[in-house]
Amino acid sequence: MPRPGETVVAHRFAQFPGGKGSNQAVAAARMGAATLMIGATGVDESGARMRAFLQESGVDTTLVTADKTHPTGQAFINVTERGENSIVVVPGANGELQPADIPVQALAGCNVFLAQLESPVATVRAFFQHAATRRGCTILNAAPAEQDGAALFPLDDVLIVNETELAAYAGLAELHKAAPDIVTTARELLSRDGQTIVVTLGADGVVVVTAEQERIIPAIPAQVVDTTGAGDCFCGVLAAGLADGLALTEAVRLAVTAAAISVERPGAASSIPTRAEVDARRH
Ligand code: ATP
Repeated sequence: MPRPGETVVAHRFAQFPGGKGSNQAVAAARMGAATLMIGATGVDESGARMRAFLQESGVDTTLVTADKTHPTGQAFINVTERGENSIVVVPGANGELQPADIPVQALAGCNVFLAQLESPVATVRAFFQHAATRRGCTILNAAPAEQDGAALFPLDDVLIVNETELAAYAGLAELHKAAPDIVTTARELLSRDGQTIVVTLGADGVVVVTAEQERIIPAIPAQVVDTTGAGDCFCGVLAAGLADGLALTEAVRLAVTAAAISVERPGAASSIPTRAEVDARRH
């Protein structure tokens, strides 16, 4: 890991498509959902590669704009031989997406609206406000944890967080892994009637919390190779399940199965299974 002022020589270099929105769109498309993505790339090689990758994965990129002044967003990840990592994220074009960039007319046929916080909060707000006029189901994966993001919670039917994000939004330095604490803390984040909070707990599965009840859905046992992107796989598949008419608990079960398959393969987007692979694992 380079210290300030230091130069180090690495053994390897590799580039992968990524970004939470992109990974989640790919997961939804691999489940067979008609998936339209809003986002922005730069006019550069990475942007062209991302667009091609999304299209090959079945994502409609009509609404992914090309920004002439900012580069495609990137994350630079240094990994040591001991597996520790440090990450520098450059949001680039995606970080410049404005509320006015939400193409209201183009979303007329959509019924499930999923967003993350790698685009500006004001832009995500405009997206959800539009979804409300369509009576669509709104899902926020409130990641990465952004304190401003909490202002969006009242706009969401479903809020998805992992343990670290749950602790951050609840203002806790640390959270006990025990289910009662998770449930109590999640319930405090509920901001309106009919809302559901889904807390993902890695190998411990998922806790689904509403004002009235809670349900623990265990993870599917997996031979772990690489857990990167498990959360994104989960979110995209959950959205696809809801779009397909599944009840929330059934959509969570579908997502838990897909995420278990994804941790058995390397990579983030590349590890996301197809619907046929998920169905084969469930039967
Ligand atoms: P990441 O940042 O690695 O993408 P995350 O912290 O957002 O992940 P997790 O809670 O780690 O999300 O994982 C999401 C879901 O993936 C879990 O709820 C679980 O269903 C599944 N999952 C993750 N790790 C495992 C595992 N080791 N075995 C089986 N399933 C897993």
